[in-house]
Amino acid sequence: MNNRVHQGHLARKRFGQNFLNDQFVIDSIVAAINPQKNQAMVEIGPGLGALTEPVGERLDKLTVIELDRDLAARLQTHPFLAPKLTIYQQDAMTMNFAELSATIGQPLRVFGNLPYNISTPLMFHLFSYTDAIADMHFMLQKEVVNRLVAGPNSKAYGRLSVMAQYYCQVIPVLEVPPTAFTPPPKVDSAVVRLVPHTTLPHPVKDLRLLSRITTEAFNQRRKTVRNSLGNMFSVEELDAMGVDPTKRAENISVAQYCQMANHLADRQASKES
Ligand code: SAM
Repeated sequence: MNNRVHQGHLARKRFGQNFLNDQFVIDSIVAAINPQKNQAMVEIGPGLGALTEPVGERLDKLTVIELDRDLAARLQTHPFLAPKLTIYQQDAMTMNFAELSATIGQPLRVFGNLPYNISTPLMFHLFSYTDAIADMHFMLQKEVVNRLVAGPNSKAYGRLSVMAQYYCQVIPVLEVPPTAFTPPPKVDSAVVRLVPHTTLPHPVKDLRLLSRITTEAFNQRRKTVRNSLGNMFSVEELDAMGVDPTKRAENISVAQYCQMANHLADRQASKES
């Protein structure tokens, strides 16, 4: 039997289609999401409805974003879901989640078994809308979940950890083996919960600077920060911020990265005035 065919649909690799087939895993994810009537639930990549059906059962309405035209069409004629669904047949990367939240009139609860090929850029896209989002539950490659939750002084700690934790509290929920999917992916998976901070713990004045510093630092993660960030900060400045210049990118906390970004913003502002 062709293991890429699930419920009569041939899984498309380019859309990262790995369909959940394990009822225990599906039930555990839905329990973790805990959808309630009258919440603005939004699913990215509903596919053949493995999560959409049990979530939809509990709700009167549900928004879904599905890029695959055939799958979106199937949902349009789904026996019990169709009348409850608002279907956006589009790339989730182009979705304006702030507008969607304004249309529904509530902060969004976003969830999905994400296409792994776009999961990191999609996370960054969603981070730019955290004001409009109450929480997010995603199935991702386990390695990506490890990076999202990682703290300093670990190999998995990187730019994604810093940016995710800048915006959100990040909680690992459950690990999922390849056998839970058709076709099985080559990697282990895991579900993560991301809850945007209501008050940012370390607000920065200019996000582009935080983005620039973390990119520079982690692109040269084996170098000490006095070298990797040497064109932005002198050793004296690093010392004054309590950042040990002999440490590497992975030893610097989220709070310290934010402090560095604000230092740079203040320096630029004082130059301009
Ligand atoms: N939710 C289903 C499940 O758990 O069985 C399907 C998950 S599958 C890993 C990812 C789904 O996302 C597919 O249905 C795929 O067509 C859809 N998809 C892929 N790229 C997308 C994108 N850029 N925007 C929205 N949906 C996308």
